[in-house]
Amino acid sequence: MDSTAGWMGTILRVDLSRKTFTETATRDYAERFIGGRGIAAKVYWDEVSPDVGAFDPENPLILMTGPLCGTGAVGGSRWVVAGKSPLMHPDQYGMTNLGGTMGPAIKAAGYDGMVITGRSDTPACLVVDEGRVTFDDAGPLWGLETQVALQRLKGRYGKTSQSLTIGPAGENLVRLAVAVGEQGASCGSGFGAVMGSKNLKAVVVRGSGRVRIAHPNDLKDVNARIRSLIGEKFLSDPNIEGIELVRRASCSGCPAGCPRGLYKHDTGTEEYLKNCQSTYVYYTWDRLFYNGEPTTNPFLVTSLCNRLGLCTQEMSNIFRLLNLCREEGVDLGGFDVSRMGSLDFAENLLRSMSSRTGFGNILARGTIRAAQALGPDAEALLERFVTPSGFHAHEYSPRYFVTNGVFYATEATSPLNHLHEIIFPLMKWVMWYATDGTMNPFSTDVMRAMARRFWGIPDAADFTSYVGKGPVAKLIQDRNFAKENLVVCDFLYPMLIALGAEDFLGEPDLESRLLSAVTGTDVSEAAYYRTGERVFNLQRAIQGCEGRCGRKDDVLNEVNFTEGLEVDEGFFGIWNPDFMVPGPGGEIVSRKGAVVDREQFTRMMDDYYSARGWDVVSGLQKRDTLIDLDLGDIVSDLETRGLVCKE
Ligand code: SF4
Repeated sequence: MDSTAGWMGTILRVDLSRKTFTETATRDYAERFIGGRGIAAKVYWDEVSPDVGAFDPENPLILMTGPLCGTGAVGGSRWVVAGKSPLMHPDQYGMTNLGGTMGPAIKAAGYDGMVITGRSDTPACLVVDEGRVTFDDAGPLWGLETQVALQRLKGRYGKTSQSLTIGPAGENLVRLAVAVGEQGASCGSGFGAVMGSKNLKAVVVRGSGRVRIAHPNDLKDVNARIRSLIGEKFLSDPNIEGIELVRRASCSGCPAGCPRGLYKHDTGTEEYLKNCQSTYVYYTWDRLFYNGEPTTNPFLVTSLCNRLGLCTQEMSNIFRLLNLCREEGVDLGGFDVSRMGSLDFAENLLRSMSSRTGFGNILARGTIRAAQALGPDAEALLERFVTPSGFHAHEYSPRYFVTNGVFYATEATSPLNHLHEIIFPLMKWVMWYATDGTMNPFSTDVMRAMARRFWGIPDAADFTSYVGKGPVAKLIQDRNFAKENLVVCDFLYPMLIALGAEDFLGEPDLESRLLSAVTGTDVSEAAYYRTGERVFNLQRAIQGCEGRCGRKDDVLNEVNFTEGLEVDEGFFGIWNPDFMVPGPGGEIVSRKGAVVDREQFTRMMDDYYSARGWDVVSGLQKRDTLIDLDLGDIVSDLETRGLVCKE
């Protein structure tokens, strides 16, 4: 790989305790791990001992871009944040990705990424300006909400600066605190609290550096092909009452036409939204409280979460826990949830959580730890909606979509990208089915053709069968890990179906072509997926060292095996109340009342471990598989810990 194209060349290493910094060469990592998620995982493996706590100074906050970032590749400006997550249960390796404009700005400031360790003795801003690193006083910013802090930072460092900051939640070590960038892009996993633990109010970058592109004309061609395949805007705008679009706000240089934008409420409050879960964090409870009458409150609640620096994804789980406790009569120590759904309830709750006062101090621990603090009755409710590590487990239920069972069982960090590879095309199919083909052309035949092209077999689009799904799940995981190594947008890639194509099918080699054009090294589709497989295995090794050991921990929540699928409150429930899916041979069948079949799930997992080259009985990685994946350097450590199978 040409070690200069696609990269600025160095990763910044910062020690906040000593206020010192060093640099390492990006090329030391890029060939095996590409960038983003891959490089972050390797840094973590090399440098973080399993017994380091999320709030320990030794826990690194890793900010990492990919080779496409800053090159104008469509959907290529995203970047990742990684480290030990205080939100996951227990504290363990976590990772998330963000859009907006910060990723390209990190590169323009002179670096491909940053690894920030230590703890400043006073509130600090880490400033990287044209490659110069300073540690500025953040005392006057401490306590400010994120929007205000971002404005002040803009005033202090100029219009061309970009910042990542935290709100009161991060400062107060609320475990679900997020780091918030400009354009409202924020991330889960509690890294806002990690910043707070380091007394790091903000990371500010500014610069005029440019990323070298090895073959600019090839990049132009691939970009043009991607735009022509997209065809038109591919997601609808947020469906929230009483807001108007101020302007579209694509991630840096992305012309893809997704609904990302700045929206304004009647009160004058402005917020960046896209059409995803973050926008709808309070939607269900608002509808319930006001008997289905739409209000503008969901917008205000999303905005308040962002301003206080609270994770909307985790807040969804918190609201669900409170609602279940209400339904089941679980004692909340006098805390009144009867007004859940109203604006005043949400405001009081969010403010008490971010300041860690009263009952909010319990919820500030995140859903799992809060339920544990509330006692066994509350804890027993968890398995209905969160995975053992704390990710939501109900929205894309394996009872509905069989393949998802593998993702939920084997991925402790958020498996959302993998789930999306099943869900996004199925959403399109549901619209086709629910409207007799008038809303889009993504018929069952298109789904089966897509399954053959992307998942290897047309019967991968039989959503009722377990046969062959283990290897399909592996392929999807590898592709989605590769995607986050690169780092490209989850809305766009893989482009499974495409309105702009004659047969409505997308193309699986777009990402590897982008990578080849930017770096100048020919990377085949298979070689690109192989990097995903390598990083998936590296993450598995990290998780093993942190206590998640093979098959015994690859579990689904018991409710999947025992309680039939009845009501879906989300998108699918609205459009598809009978849970219709393409079944055997393309026949359309209902999954209503379905449970996961325990024996067939076990066989699917056997197939999955075989496809991965892992030991089927223990689910442990095999030495030869790791060596084949060019991960020989992690084998001896795993062997010492008894985490690798020799045969
Ligand atoms: S499609 Fe939307 S979310 Fe994805 S990179 Fe483009 S602007 Fe950002």
